[in-house]
Amino acid sequence: MLKGRTIMVTGASSGIGEAAARLLAAEGAAVVLMARREDRLREVAGSIEDDGGRAAVCVGDVRSPADVEGAVSTAVDTFGSLDGAFNNAGWGTVGPPLHEMDDADYDRMMDVNVRGVWNCLRKQIPVMLTQGSGGSIVNTSSTAGLFATGASAPYVAAKHAVAGLTKAAAAQYGAQGIRVNALMVGSTRTELMEAAMQEVPQLDKYAVARAIQQRLADPQEIAQAVVWLCSDRSSFVTGASVPVDGGCSAV
Ligand code: NDP
Repeated sequence: MLKGRTIMVTGASSGIGEAAARLLAAEGAAVVLMARREDRLREVAGSIEDDGGRAAVCVGDVRSPADVEGAVSTAVDTFGSLDGAFNNAGWGTVGPPLHEMDDADYDRMMDVNVRGVWNCLRKQIPVMLTQGSGGSIVNTSSTAGLFATGASAPYVAAKHAVAGLTKAAAAQYGAQGIRVNALMVGSTRTELMEAAMQEVPQLDKYAVARAIQQRLADPQEIAQAVVWLCSDRSSFVTGASVPVDGGCSAV
């Protein structure tokens, strides 16, 4: 489905990003994997290559425009183009009520989740415009980008901002064939979710009760939506906030 495309994935060292990178590669895309943990990225890239796929590693922090530019250049230099992106790196906590939170937590949450996506859009879109063949960008938001889920206030604000950036970018570059969509991800079994469950042990039960499907997602289920949005099968979908949340935003 994605043969001949090069797709950059941030947060590819674990969880949803890792699952998406593996599935995108299995569907034929060459993938550029970005995150901070080099050993984990090399492990993921190695196993993609063992399965016959193509992957390049770019160690970096999405808060750094230079690191993001490095990943975009890796795509073009190694595979010849940048046709899509899954801007997924993120960090969040449940945290105390906002008046008890540190400013440093607010700054970090905004930097990783919002500035990270901002940096990616600002480096990826010029390359796609120059190539002239459009592209598909998927940004990871959350059900916390739709309503106050119980996650910390800065996380809820950051994920709403990701949905806003997505709509604005979709509107500005639609005419050039660049589609930009956000995934409103529901509770998914990953390292981030495990850390949140350690913070708040009753979170597991709460998350299960919120979902119509009465369970958490497997990262693979989110990855399927990423592949669809990166492919031409979603050709008339842009500027959308697509829920993949077991129905929790419907009730
Ligand atoms: P993980 O903790 O498994 O993955 C987070 C990824 O982001 C890791 O690969 C991590 O890699 C990377 N990352 C974090 N900070 C940075 C940074 N500054 N620069 C580059 N990479 C970074 O969690 P998930 O897979 O769950 O999270 C992926 C996305 O999904 C996040 O945006 C999260 O907010 C969102 N989400 C998750 C939900 C869930 O229930 N799990 C629900 C809704 C949204 P490294 O540490 O190597 O840098």
